[in-house]
Amino acid sequence: MIYLDNNATTKPFAEVVETMATFIISRFWNVSSAYGQLDGLEGVIESAKAAIRRLSGVGSDDEVIFTSGATESNAWAVAEGARRAAGTGWMLSSEIEHPSVREALEHFQEQGFDVRWVPVTREGVLDLGALVKLLDPDLRFVSMMSAHNETGVIQPVKEAMSLIRERSPECLIHTDATQALGKIPTFFSDGLHEVDLISFSGHKFHGPKGIGGLIIRNGVPIEPLIKGGGQQNNLRSGTLNIPAIAGIAVAADKCSELLEERQHETIRAVRDYFEERICSVFPDALILGRNAPRLPNTSFFGIPGADADDLVLALAAKGIAVSKGSACSAQSVEPSRTAAQMGYSYEEASSLIRFSASCDTTSMDVHLFVDELQDLWRQAGIPEKFE
Ligand code: PMP
Repeated sequence: MIYLDNNATTKPFAEVVETMATFIISRFWNVSSAYGQLDGLEGVIESAKAAIRRLSGVGSDDEVIFTSGATESNAWAVAEGARRAAGTGWMLSSEIEHPSVREALEHFQEQGFDVRWVPVTREGVLDLGALVKLLDPDLRFVSMMSAHNETGVIQPVKEAMSLIRERSPECLIHTDATQALGKIPTFFSDGLHEVDLISFSGHKFHGPKGIGGLIIRNGVPIEPLIKGGGQQNNLRSGTLNIPAIAGIAVAADKCSELLEERQHETIRAVRDYFEERICSVFPDALILGRNAPRLPNTSFFGIPGADADDLVLALAAKGIAVSKGSACSAQSVEPSRTAAQMGYSYEEASSLIRFSASCDTTSMDVHLFVDELQDLWRQAGIPEKFE
């Protein structure tokens, strides 16, 4: 299998699996138990928090609360936003957020909350001009992603932050950093970059599935979404998933090291080689957001006239894993909503395939993938099928 769908999920590092096995097989205690405490499980959690702080670039006073993943973290952030916007306030987000943010906001919108949406440019970048026109002192909550799951476009969170802080001082700011963490160096405690809440997910950076979290910047008051046993300072109840927490720590530490070694530049070179090849074989190929700052591993491309559904399926049968966009909507018959927001036609959006590399991806993988695409294209009998 040539795996080129790393924005959907990543292969856990071997060290992650080994660490988790220890906590599943022999150190399976409940962290709240006396023997669990004697075994140092509290320390495991603290080290995991430190690993997440290091990877995301937040300070040692910022709180890390573990959740079941970014979907829960996003739902939590939005629920807190709604709590603050109740009454005369309103909430803001972009037109290209992940469904876990968009649909959570739409839920409150249906209940009568005022939610406004900022469009993106043709390159898939949040339109700062449109944003600034919307801002006012009654704005209570903003959610904007750090990097897009389909296009990989890195959003101007820092620039948006300074506009929001100036014009809407009571606003709580959330970023969904699920696709950014582990792929690019992030510094969320850096001056204007000081967002209040940050969502992340382990399985996007070679950690386990079903674990993620919300980083709550020092002193930001927030109500829990899930109540019950009072774990994690009453902020997120539920028995802590220690094997996953130990696993995410190993993944975060390893990603921090790889980023320090500038491994992402090697991944960028592989992605750029892919785009070079695809454009030489298909000169009229589309590459979304190519002129914007992008995640180094992602290419959302289309061959005009092709049907991404057919191609992705045919590629899977040949042992090549890519997707036609967000894994969450890959089952849907509708093409990428984000591409439509960027101004691409239905036909163009229907041709889009997402290539997303990792540190395991080689130029040979790229080579084989492009060759296979070319073969499928020929076999498909263009012009009959595709034109
Ligand atoms: N946000 C973004 C940007 C994502 O790409 C994803 C995963 N597709 C999520 C949130 C949801 O993450 P999880 O799978 O951890 O719930």
